[in-house]
Amino acid sequence: MPGDRATRCWVEVSLGRIGANFDHVRGVVGKAVEVVPVVKANACGHGAVPVARALCARGARWLAVSSVEEGVALRAAKIDARILVMAGFLPVERTALIDFDLTPVLHSLPAIREWDHLNRVRGRTAAYHLKIDTGLWRLGTLAVASEIAAAVSACSHAQLEGLMTHFASAGDYSCTQTEEQTSRFLGIAAELASVGVSLTYRHLSGTVPVAYGRARAWQNMVRTAHAIYGYIAPSSGPEAPAPVLRVEPALSWKVRILEVKDVPAGAAIGYRGTFRAPAPMRIAILAAGYADGIPHQLANRGQVIAAGRITPMLGAIAMDLTAVDVTHAPGLQPGDAVTLLGSEGCVALDAQQIGQAAGTSSYAILCGIGARVRRVYVE
Ligand SMILES: *Cc1c(COP(=O)(O)O)cnc(C)c1O
Repeated sequence: MPGDRATRCWVEVSLGRIGANFDHVRGVVGKAVEVVPVVKANACGHGAVPVARALCARGARWLAVSSVEEGVALRAAKIDARILVMAGFLPVERTALIDFDLTPVLHSLPAIREWDHLNRVRGRTAAYHLKIDTGLWRLGTLAVASEIAAAVSACSHAQLEGLMTHFASAGDYSCTQTEEQTSRFLGIAAELASVGVSLTYRHLSGTVPVAYGRARAWQNMVRTAHAIYGYIAPSSGPEAPAPVLRVEPALSWKVRILEVKDVPAGAAIGYRGTFRAPAPMRIAILAAGYADGIPHQLANRGQVIAAGRITPMLGAIAMDLTAVDVTHAPGLQPGDAVTLLGSEGCVALDAQQIGQAAGTSSYAILCGIGARVRRVYVE
């Protein structure tokens, strides 16, 4: 077993599975579309550096992160793919973009002028991608094409390489918002082309528009996070299509049992006694709690797999400890492992199910796996 006996709580990340998921995404969009794996938030909890290395070995030419700090960490690990920094940067971080050869996404016309100035002072020319806000009302410029073209053309040391936008509700097939955002984006791209502003890359899509086949929104680059880690968020609406992409989760999450005990009927288990044993039962105390990323909302709602069976969490989730029912498995001993996320035999729990039970998303479950949970890499 990869997690050694002294590890309280760990995740096993299959780099082979991540590579296969990347291949599946490339297979769906085809060779003409550059697939940019998104390794933000520590590769959604999977470990940014090992995941980035595995993806580069598999042929990824680009990676995307959210922050300058995340990009610098990849450079420190000698990752030499192009790195797109998507979620903005602070004024003091601008020079690090240059020093570490990171490609910024700029979100306003003044930011283009600043990027140009900074590079001119350094005697170099550097690429950037420009994000336009097509209706998410978050980051991205609201300027019209003529204003964008004027700002782009005024710069000699900042080179517009890509135009991008981000969707608000790509999985919602009961409204036309995604089509409208796509049309707005393509309209601006066409206007820019008509006045001689060329774009090497045009990109709008994350996992959902790839997975459900919204091919008009693929253009020649897509930025996928969730798919790489083996998840596709559900689509909704009466017209919702079936996914055209198949991926499989790459991470499983295990924790060891610290104690096993038999408790009498009526025992009120955990802080505030929110679970009362209806009958004598055997419980196991697991060596992980909300500090490890088990959502406290799973109190009396969460489940684990113990000895091959799904069994409930009992009472409150504490910072470091969680109680579960192991009445069905008298053979379990301190030091044995149970599965928080993953499969044993034919039973499985995935991040989507856990997210649903906790009233959150699979993204939040994966990103929330704590820093002290050891990452173990397997084929
Ligand atoms: C996170 C992110 C993505 C990827 O999201 P998935 O839907 O998980 O693939 C793409 N673009 C931007 C701007 C993001 O922040």
